[in-house]
This record gives sequence, C-alpha cells and structure tokens, in this order.
Amino acid sequence: MAILPIRVFGDPVLREACPEVEEIDESVEQLVRDLVDSLPRPGGAGLSANQLGILKRVFVYEDQGEVRACINPRLVSVSEETEEELEGCLSLPGVAVPVPRHLNLVLECLDLDGSPKRLEVEGWLARVFQHELDHLDGRLILDRTDRESRVQAIQLLQGEPGHVGTG
Ligand code: ZN
Repeated sequence: MAILPIRVFGDPVLREACPEVEEIDESVEQLVRDLVDSLPRPGGAGLSANQLGILKRVFVYEDQGEVRACINPRLVSVSEETEEELEGCLSLPGVAVPVPRHLNLVLECLDLDGSPKRLEVEGWLARVFQHELDHLDGRLILDRTDRESRVQAIQLLQGEPGHVGTG
C-alpha cells in the first residue's frame, strides 16, 4: 500500500505529456497499485500517472465503487453535444471552474493484463475520462475554462487576495 502525494498546481510534471506504455511490466503494475491507493475515496473520481509524478499514459477511475485502470487510453469518438459544468481537480485544491465537455464518448485502452477494452460512456464518466485524458496531455481545467474563471482560480491557488475564497 503506497499512498503517494498528489502533485499540485505549479509542479511542472502536470504540464508534461505522458508517453504510451510500451510493455505492461512490473513498473506499470506498481504504478496502477499506487494510483488506486492514492485516489482519495470518497472525493476522487480519477487520477492520472503524472499527478503522482510519473510520465506514463495511465489513469485510474472510480465507477460504481470500483477503481479501474486505463492504460494507453485513446479517444475514438466524441459526441458533438457538449455540456458545461463546474469541475474540480485533485491537483488544484479548492478550485471549481466551469468546463464544457462532450456528453458521450468512445475510448479504447488496455487492461492491466494487456487485453484491449472499448468503453462507451456518457455524462459524468465521460467528463471524468476527458479530464484524465487532458492530464495525460499536460492539460488542466484552467485551460478549458473561461478567462475570468481562470484568473480567479489562479489567484486562489497562489494565495493572492482576490474575490474568491477570502474571508
Ligand atoms: Zn485533475
């Protein structure tokens, strides 16, 4: 059991793109165990490898009480229809900003045993997958929100006096 610290805003590893895993070896199995252990429950919907400082294209997500791994996830298709909702991030403590996401998507990835999976998801889980895919590409919700929300969020994260979270 290894609960590792989750990297937070300002750590450059959150801006790194995570290259695909070439072989599911011991280190990938260890990474998935660490991601599962480190995902806060309740409260965490998903966690990506670079949030633990590791540059591999792997994330875990919680679905109906179970935490599952996606290795080398790849978006196959997304719905045209999008929906904007407030979204938070374990790496941006205290921040919630409006983020538009596709309502439905199809994603392909590998299981821990290397077998291919094809996942068709909608709503909340589709939002979680898009959030984690963004992490693996070095992208944060700050890049997906409107300018004003971004400015306020960064003020909050940097602890500067602003209009959010004071008092
Ligand atoms: Zn996040």
